[in-house]
Amino acid sequence: MNTMLYRRCGRSGVLLPEISLGLWHNFGAGDDPAACRAMIACALERGICHFDLADNYGPPPGSAEERFGSLLAGEFAAHRDEMFISTKAGHLMWPGPYGDWGSRKHLLAGLDQSLKRLRLDYVDVFYSHRPDPETPIEETVGALVQAVRSGKALYAGLSKYPPELFRRACALLAEEKVPCLIHQYRYNLLDRSCEIGMLPATREQQIGSIVFSPLAQGMLTGKYRTGSLPADSRARRADSPFLNTERVAESAAAVERIAALADQAGISLTQLALRWLLGRPGITSVLIGARNVTQLEQCADAAGLPPLDDDLLRALDDATRPS
Ligand code: NDP
Repeated sequence: MNTMLYRRCGRSGVLLPEISLGLWHNFGAGDDPAACRAMIACALERGICHFDLADNYGPPPGSAEERFGSLLAGEFAAHRDEMFISTKAGHLMWPGPYGDWGSRKHLLAGLDQSLKRLRLDYVDVFYSHRPDPETPIEETVGALVQAVRSGKALYAGLSKYPPELFRRACALLAEEKVPCLIHQYRYNLLDRSCEIGMLPATREQQIGSIVFSPLAQGMLTGKYRTGSLPADSRARRADSPFLNTERVAESAAAVERIAALADQAGISLTQLALRWLLGRPGITSVLIGARNVTQLEQCADAAGLPPLDDDLLRALDDATRPS
């Protein structure tokens, strides 16, 4: 059943679902095609109409776009206009000096390659995936402007930009009348660092905020609480270097504190983590990853829960506030 609520993305005409689905993991060449298909069907049924990709998602890089593109060209073709599809360029994709970072050359070639893999004429948002310390921001922004003016993207987005550079990029985009639609950055109960930088900057600019890794890649689901790594979990996957035994161990005490509060409140740790983010001021959409329909349904259900009460919010603040 679709009970999803939609929030306005900054000052734009775009509404995004409270929960969006990212295809960073679980959509690669080695992942189960039936599970991928089922997740897209389930997402659409649940009103999760925003799908977030990037050129390098897989593994291997490019394979998530290929898989999503083949589903879009087939069974889901009639649903294109119901979907809001993003992609990004700016991480390593091909050898040589043009295969990475934020030059006009890299971003525009990357977008063309993404469109081919996605089998689309345009994406809804094209992001600069990360700031490039070596390329003038005017050049990176110019590439986003060209992507929009050429009709290959409807909107421009920024990902992981530190506050000052974010403000500068927004100003340059506004001068070109291609306003920044959205800023994408990490935010979860184990990592609240954006509260003293990116989140206030994005609110002040009245630009949408979509936050990734809301479950800290699975640590905030409780699946690692026994100290062991379940066989099918992300932390076990050799092709997933961003979560491993050390990261799980470092966060174990904080996860226990938050899990105890979830138990007291009588909701699952997963839903507490998502519901908490949905209650933070300035958040447009919470961008989850899921490996199967069961996980996706549990995350989607969080959107329908009532807001967390004030006592619980205070206790969570005490347990997790950034120093
Ligand atoms: P999450 O924090 O939501 O982690 C997803 C993982 O959590 C799943 O793969 C699964 O792990 C586990 N999980 C999810 N739901 C459940 C559940 N109900 N029960 C148990 N386990 C669950 O998000 P991601 O880190 O995957 O990031 C989400 C999206 O954000 C990405 O797909 C991408 O689109 C975007 N992103 C953008 C970045 C950027 O640089 N702009 C960087 C990172 C992400 P398992 O597989 O172990 O079962």
